[in-house]
Amino acid sequence: MPVFRADLHVHTVLSPCGDMEQSPRAVVKAAKNKGITLLGIADHNASENVPACVEAARRAGSVTVIPAVEVASVEEVHILGLFPNPADLGAMQGKIHQRLGDDKNVPEKFGYQVIVDHRDNVLGFNDRFLLAATDMDVDTAVRYIREYGGFAVAAHVDRPAFSMTSQLGFVPPAPTFDAIEVSRFADPGEYVDLGYAVIRSSDAHLPGEVGAAYTELELEEPTYDELIMALRGEGGRKVVGYSPTIKVMA
Ligand SMILES: [Zn+2]
Ligand SMILES: [Zn+2]
Repeated sequence: MPVFRADLHVHTVLSPCGDMEQSPRAVVKAAKNKGITLLGIADHNASENVPACVEAARRAGSVTVIPAVEVASVEEVHILGLFPNPADLGAMQGKIHQRLGDDKNVPEKFGYQVIVDHRDNVLGFNDRFLLAATDMDVDTAVRYIREYGGFAVAAHVDRPAFSMTSQLGFVPPAPTFDAIEVSRFADPGEYVDLGYAVIRSSDAHLPGEVGAAYTELELEEPTYDELIMALRGEGGRKVVGYSPTIKVMA
């Protein structure tokens, strides 16, 4: 079975912290250059740029966009929801809109939240404060992701902010989530005892970071269904490797 590289956690200009260069075309081009075939587009509590990324990828060829969103729970834990198509993601997005506070973004302070088309034309701005937490606790956010047909991944569990470890002190064993994600700085092998598939992603906010961390998967073809089979260990599909772990000197 062929091996494909997946970077399933990449932000766009819609995230206030996303670089203004992080447009759909730039993200797709960077993924292609890095040999990333499965590209998860996951902005903070928002997903308006997913259709543009899907279209940019279709035009560029050889990259499959996985519609996704990075939900912030009330505990300020980040959870990735991966979805089979933009419509199912849209249902989850509706729930996030209901559960996110009404605070407005202050672009001069936090950054612009830009909605674009597949040619990188600006269509508008999301004026909600997307870096805010929703009022859903972790279990509720996971329940909704699953209810709307998605796959729930505890994001960057090794990181010192916005992770299960930093906010709640531990990562509960399966099946609280469907999989867990580590950054480029953690050894995925340290988490296997929890009973989850472990992915590694870049959490890129700049084009130069796209594909800087990735998961290698054996799949028949690079599709959402095959990806989920691999993360569930079904049908011989599986996670077979990762980009290198970066050692940080204490
Ligand atoms: Zn995050
Ligand atoms: Zn992120």
